[in-house]
Amino acid sequence: MIDPFGRRVTYLRVSVTDRCDLRCVYCMAEDMTFLPKSEVLTLEELDRLCGAFIGLGVEKIRLTGGEPLVRRNVMSLVESLGARLGAGGLRELTLTTNGTQLAKYAEGLARAGVRRINVSLDTLDAAAFKAATRWGDLEKVLDGIFAAKAAGLHVKINAVALKGVNEHEFDRLLAWCGEHGFDLCLIETMPMGEISQDRTDQFLPLSLVRARLRERWTLQETDYRTGGPARYFDVAETGTRLGFITPMTHNFCESCNRVRLTCTGTLYMCLGQDDAADLRAPLRDPSLGEEGLREAILAAIARKPKGHDFVIDRRRKAPAVARHMSVTGG
Ligand code: SAM
Ligand code: SF4
Repeated sequence: MIDPFGRRVTYLRVSVTDRCDLRCVYCMAEDMTFLPKSEVLTLEELDRLCGAFIGLGVEKIRLTGGEPLVRRNVMSLVESLGARLGAGGLRELTLTTNGTQLAKYAEGLARAGVRRINVSLDTLDAAAFKAATRWGDLEKVLDGIFAAKAAGLHVKINAVALKGVNEHEFDRLLAWCGEHGFDLCLIETMPMGEISQDRTDQFLPLSLVRARLRERWTLQETDYRTGGPARYFDVAETGTRLGFITPMTHNFCESCNRVRLTCTGTLYMCLGQDDAADLRAPLRDPSLGEEGLREAILAAIARKPKGHDFVIDRRRKAPAVARHMSVTGG
């Protein structure tokens, strides 16, 4: 699949549910209305759609959400996708999780062929964690992270940089990650969805964070890339990596290789644009068959836009896109 700008699309992110057991302040409003279950694709349908994408050249799938591990029976999807690894055409199956359910699922994930996972953790301070997630329990997440490590999964910690919440903690977070062999990736907040707070109060430019970290750590430039938006540095003192995702201060769209599928079968060709294609109708139309589904996917890829136009400022009150990050999963 090659888009109109010559970019090869090899990476599919799949939001398996819009629901979540946390309410991170930058991601969701406290009183979210979730999709009625009738609109959500079954796990079998999601597996079939993923199969069609793999047939068209997708090599990497990331399950996300909402919180992927709160979807009932999610392991059956992990296992069916895991069976597509290798000769099935899939090279990597991974997931992004908030970690609350990881203690229960880590071993099963490893057995199904998952090798690396991203866990979102913005702070190591229990009170700040509770405030950032509105009701999360830090201990539970830490138990999950160490269960993942014990199961042999490579863990990358993702932390959203939030002014006044974790801005003085990145030293500690980096040291902690180094101690346990986890890579760390810092993310700027993006203006997606109404969240019942002013985003300009949360926004912390990572250029500032990087400059502060450089006073204490030796950050060595590296050409390590995951095909994603992060720019990575090797941290000489820890032997782990530190990445920065800076959609607001640096545009990463030129090398974009991904599209995003929601749990209702809607395909977003860009995280920062509203255009989307409905794949549920062709998926459920028996008269179209596999060929009709492939054509619908290719027609969507042919509309992939050049890039996003994220802006956060006080004059522009509305979010850049109306949907929340939990619709597509980041
Ligand atoms: N629930 C899972 C989790 O938290 O990892 C997966 C879905 S979550 C939407 C995926 C990632 O998006 C998380 O790392 C989260 O911190 C990040 N995220 C959510 N809203 C964001 C926003 N407005 N700006 C930047 N990152 C955001
Ligand atoms: Fe849930 Fe992840 Fe959004 Fe937090 S960032 S509310 S854990 S979906």
